[in-house]
Amino acid sequence: MSIHTPYRPLDITIPFPELRAWARTATRLHPIPGSPTAADSSVGGPLLWPADEEWPVCGEHGPGTPGIAPERERRYRRILREVDARPRTEDGGLAYTDEERAELDALSAEPWHQPDRHEGGPSPLLALAQFYARDIPDLAPFAPPGTDLLHVLWCPYYEHADGPFSHFGPYTRLYWRRAADVTEPLAVMPEPAVAGRGRYLPEPCVLRPEQVVEYPYVDYLPEELGRRIEAWEDELRARIGDAAPWYQYDLSLAPGWKIGGWDSWHTTDLVRVYCDACGTEMRVLLTIDSYESHAAEGSWGPFPSPDTPTAVKVGRDGEYRAFVCPTDPSHPHRMSMQ
Ligand SMILES: [Zn+2]
Ligand SMILES: [Zn+2]
Repeated sequence: MSIHTPYRPLDITIPFPELRAWARTATRLHPIPGSPTAADSSVGGPLLWPADEEWPVCGEHGPGTPGIAPERERRYRRILREVDARPRTEDGGLAYTDEERAELDALSAEPWHQPDRHEGGPSPLLALAQFYARDIPDLAPFAPPGTDLLHVLWCPYYEHADGPFSHFGPYTRLYWRRAADVTEPLAVMPEPAVAGRGRYLPEPCVLRPEQVVEYPYVDYLPEELGRRIEAWEDELRARIGDAAPWYQYDLSLAPGWKIGGWDSWHTTDLVRVYCDACGTEMRVLLTIDSYESHAAEGSWGPFPSPDTPTAVKVGRDGEYRAFVCPTDPSHPHRMSMQ
């Protein structure tokens, strides 16, 4: 099954040909729940990780830090899925058994659904995603020479004190590799006994990558061009009403998990991201999004149900982006939340 983004309601480069110079391709990843192997690009699947390489850990969380055991979170999701798949009760409600009701009540009894406690000591990171360059056209331009595989791991706690951006979300690590170098892959991915938030635990998903064209968030454009686009939007809206597309939501930036393209700053307005090591402006490599099509906003969907295939939610149901240095891929990446 492949997934195709619907055509844009109109081609923004017709009224604004100067936008062509700003076009970038992005690869929408289109995650779908499935059973990926280490040979597949995936979110939440096993990584092609060398068995003899140390698995990264995070040491920031003290004993007693509240969270949820991944097994408990998975059971919770399984019960909700099973109940959701059943015929509804006579009054249209969900048909729980008494046992399920009791178990869900127990799970949600604690504030924030946090029934478990971290024992203390280093906590293994979670395998979040892996991307093969052969599957994802927009990955190769970021890959350091000789590499063709990207591993993304994160620590599923919200509070991280280290680093300029990291206190807004999970601590992430990126690893570039050459897949052919991994002759003995690790069989079982370690995972933390307790995750700070259940929403940072990805459902295993296969990917259906699709390349699209994006244009920048309006604040990246010259002010004069941005003003003309806004005036054009107002005029179109006055003429055809609510059917008029928005530059931000319909014509420039694709929602959902993606590699490359442009980064949206709809929450804070533009904050340019610069490399800590060399000061160069960084480029967005990976966007982790809480929703795939933002159904309410319309034109990028429909996406096969559910709209949250990975079950990962970041920020206030927003986006969490990894920025990398375009001049030297060995410089540390930075994360930013919107
Ligand atoms: Zn951590
Ligand atoms: Zn740099």
